[in-house]
Amino acid sequence: MTKSYYEFFCPVKIVAGHAALEHIPYELSTLAASRPMIITDKGVRAAGLLEHVQGAFAEGDMEVVEIFDDVPPDSSTTVVETIAELYRERGCDSLIAVGGGSVIDTSKGVNILVSENASRLADFSGVGVLKKPLKPFFVIPTTAGTGSEVTLVAVVNDPVKGVKLPFTSYFLLPNAAILDPRMTLTLPAHITAMTAMDAMTHAVEAFTCMAKNPISDAYAVSAIGKISSNLIPVLNKPDDEAGRLELAQASTMAGIAFSNSMVGLVHSLGHSLGALCHLPHGLCMNLFLPYVLEYNLPQRREAIGELLLPLAGAEIYARTPAAQRADAAISTIRGLRDELHRRCQLPRTLAETGKVNREQLPKLAEMALDDGSILFNPVEVDLDDALAILERAW
Ligand code: NAD
Repeated sequence: MTKSYYEFFCPVKIVAGHAALEHIPYELSTLAASRPMIITDKGVRAAGLLEHVQGAFAEGDMEVVEIFDDVPPDSSTTVVETIAELYRERGCDSLIAVGGGSVIDTSKGVNILVSENASRLADFSGVGVLKKPLKPFFVIPTTAGTGSEVTLVAVVNDPVKGVKLPFTSYFLLPNAAILDPRMTLTLPAHITAMTAMDAMTHAVEAFTCMAKNPISDAYAVSAIGKISSNLIPVLNKPDDEAGRLELAQASTMAGIAFSNSMVGLVHSLGHSLGALCHLPHGLCMNLFLPYVLEYNLPQRREAIGELLLPLAGAEIYARTPAAQRADAAISTIRGLRDELHRRCQLPRTLAETGKVNREQLPKLAEMALDDGSILFNPVEVDLDDALAILERAW
């Protein structure tokens, strides 16, 4: 009899597919909200994506009260505090995040301040600090990667202390995630690739970490299958609405999976690399995924072997002997990375980024050991192990 225990919780309503955006005014009204503020960034605005969202408000009498479009890539508590002030000045009553993880996490921070009627975001950092529901909050992801639309986490930079502040609470979960294929059609190839590898890593680590459970496993496997079948076809045909929707759904599923299990060493190394060398999160995930899987083989051979099915399909899975499936799964991930490197120059090694100095590896190893995700890695990691993986990823 097993003594394992887990919880699974995802109260986020998913509104997905054709004309999903047009449902937003109705969804807002069900929460008695009528004065939404949109938070986005310059890249999303320049891609013309706000027009689709504003178009959704064209009929009916609800209007968007304010648009803040200046969320920077490494968003900060200062930006969050500025937006919260604007929200209050304009008398808004709800939030709509339109963007990738940077915009979504910033919006989660804004929701804390406007709901708590507070001015210093840093006061709410940590786990379980929030004690009551926040304002109505809708997320329209425009990248297919972070899954932040269904996670209970936000990470925002503290520019004074120079650290990334984590915020974790069930109250940070949005009321709804709107997955509309129109919102990712404009995503450039290299961002499509690296954000898809972010989602892939969420799913793979959710499926292989210490806190894996049968329900998060189901979401993870499905997410991996969708990314494996749709990423290259979407790069071939960027305006493929059906493929884009599959990638968006995969990212949301991977978010649900890791939010209800955990991640592992890829994230510990990736968080450290992102912080020290300012590389995008999805790229950091892509850099470490195969090396960490190889490191975890002694404890997770069977689980990694099971991933060959969603990664490579039934035919390859069936003709690969069980004892070789884990190695074949890792090779398939390496093959995908090679293909992404060929098509969009997505770096596969630290050296290929051109942004990392080899002398930084010991510091990166040290930082990775301090990252919370490492606690859930199936194989224990010490400083020498972390350094050896970084050397392999060089
Ligand atoms: P991002 O939000 O930083 O966006 C990257 C770039 O893509 C931006 O310049 C943006 O303008 C552009 N862009 C976005 N959508 C576009 C579109 N449809 N068309 C054209 N351009 C578009 O990238 P991201 O990878 O989505 O988010 C990264 C952030 O997410 C990091 O800060 C990371 O820490 C955070 N994150 C959060 C969670 C969580 O659960 N809260 C999980 C993983 C990552």
